[in-house]
Amino acid sequence: MKDHAPNSWEARADAHSFYGFTDLPTVQDRGAVVLTHGEGPYVVDVHGRRYLDANSGLWNMVAGFDHPGLAEAAKAQYDRFPGYHAFFGRMSDQTVMLSEKLVEVSPFEDGKVFYTNSGSEANDTMVKMLWFLNQSEGHPQKRKILTRKNGYHGVTAVSASMTGKPYNSVFGLPFEGFIHLTCPHYWREGLEGETEAAFTRRLAQELEETINAEGADTIAGFFAEPVIGAGGVIPPPEGYFQAIHKVLKKHGIPLISDEVICGFGRTGTKWGCVTYDFVPDAIISSKNLTAGYFPMGAVILGPDLTARLQEASEKIEEFPHGFTASGHPVGAAIALKAIDVILNDGLMENVVRLTPKFEAGLAEIATDANIGEARSKGFMGALEAVADKATKTPFSSDLSVSERIANTCTDHGLICRPLGQSIVLCPPFIMTDAQMDEMFEKLQKALKQVFSEVA
Ligand SMILES: *Cc1c(COP(=O)(O)O)cnc(C)c1O
Repeated sequence: MKDHAPNSWEARADAHSFYGFTDLPTVQDRGAVVLTHGEGPYVVDVHGRRYLDANSGLWNMVAGFDHPGLAEAAKAQYDRFPGYHAFFGRMSDQTVMLSEKLVEVSPFEDGKVFYTNSGSEANDTMVKMLWFLNQSEGHPQKRKILTRKNGYHGVTAVSASMTGKPYNSVFGLPFEGFIHLTCPHYWREGLEGETEAAFTRRLAQELEETINAEGADTIAGFFAEPVIGAGGVIPPPEGYFQAIHKVLKKHGIPLISDEVICGFGRTGTKWGCVTYDFVPDAIISSKNLTAGYFPMGAVILGPDLTARLQEASEKIEEFPHGFTASGHPVGAAIALKAIDVILNDGLMENVVRLTPKFEAGLAEIATDANIGEARSKGFMGALEAVADKATKTPFSSDLSVSERIANTCTDHGLICRPLGQSIVLCPPFIMTDAQMDEMFEKLQKALKQVFSEVA
């Protein structure tokens, strides 16, 4: 354990701040990385060390850490109108414009938007909307929520219940009525000799059987990330969304696309549902929505759910839900600018342009005997470490291989994230060719070092 001087940033960070989702032995050993500012895709710590952030902060800082247009939009709006709510029929002009924009860029012909401060709250809000309108329509028992194992939907009590990760058992979650189906990960979950198409059919059949066993009239909705993000970057198997959507439609169960990561360019199109060619009933957005420059989430309802929520609300004269900062004017102004920058200023184009290079870099690393699988879509990728490639046997968890890789990367000036036995790369959309080379060189160096120690 390193000794950090009591007045050092590392010791001060530790003294009075809690870390979320942090391996405490690592941080006690190495100290926190305390950051002061960023330059393009780099962040800089209190000691002046620069790190290429291959995770875009937490997937969200897609325009980098010093985008002048976004900071300008924030400053201008702070000068004009620094805060307001969206209760009692009031709303800022920026919020009105953002809703118009979100419906315009959505895959829906028409719709409405409800704002939150985060992705977790947006998922919570969506669940409450479904419960509310089902109750209003005379189906109070239609409350169960279907998601997938390894799906990540947030940390509030309901969105944590939707999240299919074992760590939530420490909170006594999930709540009753939150059902987690098989993770759609062909490499891990596919059976011996099973084709990808047959795997998809099996998942659709599991969904059908679950609906029949639980009763379609007890299920409020199915939530899915187009590509599972925080669960390890897991693109769906071939034909997956078509197959499950067919089952859901047959039983009248809405499909909610959790686009908190995939939305606004991460997979190379506006939405993950566009990449995978399905039109959901609603979209959950956050993270890229403001390019990480403001905490904001949004529920974007398609025409059917919009009409139903409208009717349920009119019956009791209101939708009794909202956050103090819902539709914050500064957040809305930043989001309008972020959407413009991503879609019209070359950011999404850059993702498309550099995706082949990103895929090639991942594929090259995947030739290593200790990398079991490289997975990616657009600018989201993961490399899964294995002790034995042929049998897909993971390293023993007490070796903490992915933490060691990530820590070694940090030593080399690269931030990437350990996730289970995988390393996640989700670079900012502004990456240049040279920065992508730098990312892979540093990662290669770290992998060689760690695998020579553990393999
Ligand atoms: C990050 C994330 C969330 C939660 O968003 P927060 O803003 O952290 O609450 C929900 N869904 C997905 C897919 C996410 O990646």
